[in-house]
Amino acid sequence: MNILVTGGAGYIGSHTCVELLNNNHNVIVVDNLSNSKKEAINRVEAITNKKVKFYEIDILDKRGLDLVFKSNTIDAVIHFAGLKAVGESVEEPLKYYQNNITGTLVLMDIMKRHNVKKIVFSSSATVYGMNNVSPLTEELPLSTTNPYGTTKMYIERIIRDTYQADNEWSGTLLRYFNPIGAHHSGTIGEDPKGVPNNLMPFITQVAVGKREKLSVFGNDYDTHDGTGVRDYIHVVDLAKGHLKALEFTMKNKTIEAINLGTGVGYSVLDMVDTFRVATNTKVPYQIIDRRPGDIATCFADTKKAKELLDWETEKNLADMCRDSWRWQSDNPEGY
Ligand code: NAD
Ligand code: UDP
Repeated sequence: MNILVTGGAGYIGSHTCVELLNNNHNVIVVDNLSNSKKEAINRVEAITNKKVKFYEIDILDKRGLDLVFKSNTIDAVIHFAGLKAVGESVEEPLKYYQNNITGTLVLMDIMKRHNVKKIVFSSSATVYGMNNVSPLTEELPLSTTNPYGTTKMYIERIIRDTYQADNEWSGTLLRYFNPIGAHHSGTIGEDPKGVPNNLMPFITQVAVGKREKLSVFGNDYDTHDGTGVRDYIHVVDLAKGHLKALEFTMKNKTIEAINLGTGVGYSVLDMVDTFRVATNTKVPYQIIDRRPGDIATCFADTKKAKELLDWETEKNLADMCRDSWRWQSDNPEGY
């Protein structure tokens, strides 16, 4: 099939492009490179020995997108493009609503005009909010605590409403838990700008000597060691989940929200320890105050993904640590 991947130069998008190409799909990427580099696409091509058709275009650019749809026969869209920094979204909500929500409206409008009505969307476990208890199941009530999360919740709603009005649409709303790791080649991976917000890139930057020590945000949570528990998922498993979601979206005229996680939670200190054993590298840390807005525990119920997509994760936490480390140590400055 011919798959349009918005945000395909980004972390999860680039790994998904590899899986798509390896499964003989044609890949067309639209990315404005606001949080990525074209080099990621070159490396996807090197890994797969296949070509990606790349457009440096903003999804807010109606005419540009229209031209992409006019110049290519597109069967479905995997929609990753979006801004994702929670803290920044609190500082600049309009930027987030504009980029993520308006961007999706423009994209879906152009899709509709060209009669492309299949979409796989990058949602997030953040839509489960602060009050639900893990394991999190897809039918739980949604709520959010920051504009980033709200964009995900609204976009899910927009896709559902679009389907309600026209049952020719189908969509899969993938709620990711915590993607980490990298392709085993070590040539593509997560390349955060500035100080990483997320745990694993912070750990690898300490390990590679770019930062002095990890700050652990609180050790007084109600968890086995007091530090926050999350469901870390290898980005290659996640990427494979998108292929399954794509198949499902092509076959079924419906909208489904589906968790992509492992179903197992690990604490911050579990992560530090597994990283040490898996990579033989010690990560110095200090305990500091809780980060505002963090919850104690978040992990997925994975039954729906297994049932509807026939998908399960294959890689364990040590694989994730090793692959994150290979990417970081081979590319200390990113791309
Ligand atoms: P990323 O920033 O690496 O990738 C997003 C890509 O979208 C980037 O290449 C960026 O340049 C591009 N982009 C952003 N706005 C655009 C626009 N207006 N037009 C064109 N391109 C645009 O992020 P990622 O980690 O790969 O995340 C991909 C998607 O998954 C995002 O929507 C994100 O919110 C969601 N998600 C990520 C995580 C995570 O922890 N990484 C968790 C849950 C959900
Ligand atoms: N965390 C931490 N130090 C950091 C970054 C994260 O202790 O520098 C903790 C955070 O409090 C949470 C876990 O690591 O318990 C995962 O955080 P991340 O930001 O990666 O994911 P999210 O909280 O968005 O699920």
